[in-house]
Parts: sequence; C-alpha cells; structure tokens
Amino acid sequence: MRKTEPVPERSRRANILLKKIDMVDLLSQHKKLEQPILSAIQRVINSSAFIKGEEVAIFEKKLAEFLQADYVIACANGTDALQIALMALELKPGDEVILPAFTYVATAEVIALLGLQPVMVDVDENTFNISLSGIINAITSRTRAIIPVHLFGQCADMEPLMKLAEAHQLFVIEDNAQSLGATCRFLDGTIKKAGTIGHIGCTSFFPTKNLGCMGDGGAIMTNLPALAEKIRMIANHGQKKKYYHEVVGCNSRLDTLQAAILNVKLPHLDTYLEARKAVGAFYQKALKNFEYAILPSYLPATPTTCNQFTLKIKDGIRDRLKEYLAEKGIPTMIYYPLPLYKQQAFSKYVPVGFSLQVTEKLCESVLALPIHTEMTEEELSYICETILDFRN
Ligand SMILES: *Cc1c(COP(=O)(O)O)cnc(C)c1O
Repeated sequence: MRKTEPVPERSRRANILLKKIDMVDLLSQHKKLEQPILSAIQRVINSSAFIKGEEVAIFEKKLAEFLQADYVIACANGTDALQIALMALELKPGDEVILPAFTYVATAEVIALLGLQPVMVDVDENTFNISLSGIINAITSRTRAIIPVHLFGQCADMEPLMKLAEAHQLFVIEDNAQSLGATCRFLDGTIKKAGTIGHIGCTSFFPTKNLGCMGDGGAIMTNLPALAEKIRMIANHGQKKKYYHEVVGCNSRLDTLQAAILNVKLPHLDTYLEARKAVGAFYQKALKNFEYAILPSYLPATPTTCNQFTLKIKDGIRDRLKEYLAEKGIPTMIYYPLPLYKQQAFSKYVPVGFSLQVTEKLCESVLALPIHTEMTEEELSYICETILDFRN
C-alpha cells in the first residue's frame, strides 16, 4: 500500500476524485518497472527469437524455483494449461471430473471440450473453495480426477483433499489461476505453494492475476517427470522431435516477449502479494462493523494472497449497494453472478433442476471490492468511509 502525503480533511475527498478509482491499476504497477520492461522488450526484438526464445526457459526455471516445483512448462494461457493437464491424463470419453460450481468458466470448459463429464459440487461458504463433503458425495466409479480451484487468492484445503484422492485413486489438477504464491500448511508443519500439491498445477498470467503479463500467458507445474515430459510434448504439437508427432497435441506457447516481461516482474511477486495482503488487512479492519456484509475469512493453514476481496452482502441488497458505490465512483465486481450449472453452455451436463445451496447463495450475495498492488490509503479510506455511510 502506498503512503501518501497527508492532505487536509476538507480537500481529501475532492483530491481522491481527481484520480479515478480502478478495480485494478496495472499502469501504476508497470510505470515502476518501465525501464527494465522496455529493455527486456528491446532485447527480444534484437534477438528476433519471438517463439521459444531463451527468456522462456529462464522464466520456467525461475518460476520452478519460486514454487519449489520440479517442472514448469509455460503455455499460452491458463485455460490451455488446464486443457493440456487433462489431456496428459489420457482420460476416456465420459470419464467424470469433479470441480466446484462456483468458479470461472474455464475450469468446466476444458472438461467438456475433451468429451469428459464435468461434475459440479458445492463450495464452502467461508472460504469459497471446493467442499470436501461435496466431493465425497460426488465420487462414483467413473470419477477419474478432481480439479480444486484456489479461488480469490486462497489455496483450497489440500491435505484432506489429497488423502481422499489417494484413497480413490483420483488425479488432482489444481486450478491455481487466481492464487499464484499462495501457500498451504500441512499437519506435519510442511508448507507448500499452491499448484505444487496435486499431480499437476495450472496457472495464468492474465494481466489481473497475482503475476500478470501484458497479454495472455499460462504455466503448468508438476513434480512427476513422466507427466512433465508428456505435458511438454502435448503443448508442442505432440512432438519431442520436430516433425515427428507421437500424440495429438496443440500449439500452446508462452511467447518470448511475455516471458521477458514476466522475468522482470517475477522478482517482485512477493512484494505484490504483500501489497495485496495490506489492502485486505485494511478492508478487514475498516469494515469489521459494516452491518450489511460478512467479510471473507480464511483457514489458518491457507492464508490468502488477496487476488480478490469479496464481501457477502446480506438481506438481498447486494445490487443496491453496488449501484450506490458506482454513483460514488467506486467500481465493484460480481464474481460470479451465475452458477456454472445454470449456464446455458453446460445445461446438457447437469440434471434438470440441479441446484447447490451455497453456490446459489454466493452468486446472489458476493461483491468484490477494488484491490491491486498500487492502492493508496487515501483511496482505501474513501472506499471504506463510503461503504460505511451506506444506509439500506
Ligand atoms: C483466469 C482463470 C482461468 C483462465 O486463465 P486464462 O489465462 O484467462 O485462460 C482459469 N481458471 C480460473 C479460476 C481463472 O480465474
């Protein structure tokens, strides 16, 4: 969080409004790294190695170090990462894959695209992450994999999930698009980074994620050498040797420009996460007495990286509060307004009338506040004071 010069009370609100409040402020973040980013881009232009340039391998190595993962394979985006991970498991048409119903569409999309059956389960009301009892109830003889999503910056509770998966011999693919850098502490005290706990982890460098590039980007991580080799082959047209294709693959690459930009930004990821957490802490403190909302809460073992700060608004007044804040120049977002099983695209995968209690409730009550690495105390005070002034 940026400290700003003290401003006399009377001009404070006026001052705030001189700069628009954004959900996300990438410009200010990148301004601070303008020179190194421009030099990195210039280096790539000079090399003309736009595809598979050396920056890509360097980034894979650096990200593997950051995550303490054995293998990182960069790819074109987070959705591809999920698709390639599923392709590497060689599932059969109709095999069932369990996922939370309260997530971004990409998680379900790739399952359906590969001819597999998405099985949507409920989430935990407090953490927004996949419910263990939901998974237990959904497992059948056709279940092959679980995709927990580490939503809004917090790793799902992976220890019981991995035990369950092991007991049923299921693969676990972590959708870590929103929580790069988040951690999970196990009962024996070990701490692992999200994305390195299941068989395969997937992440995204979409600009608004914890580590964003300047376009699309993604990566896949694993500690299993055979899977790593297969994943790298699938992402590269199913070939290990050029023009000899062992399996049907796809063309999914992180381009060298994006890798070069990510190489500049990765060393700052911990600072970015600290800045996000400071914003989250500010909101927690300032809004603790806001009577119309339940603030997000986190398990001690899975502290959040605050990719989002999501309130649950009581009494069906979410949309009214959203409108009120918009009038005061404060943007908010609804992640997600409609459960996946109610999306037209997925109607053929769910029984008629299918409904999950917590997911339904969340879709009607969630409201995400502005959060990014460059927020000032001034902006945060204005946002919180305005929220506290709301009257139903
Ligand atoms: C952003 C996101 C993705 C997809 O990432 P892209 O890079 O945009 O393809 C997948 N899953 C979740 C939960 C996401 O938030």
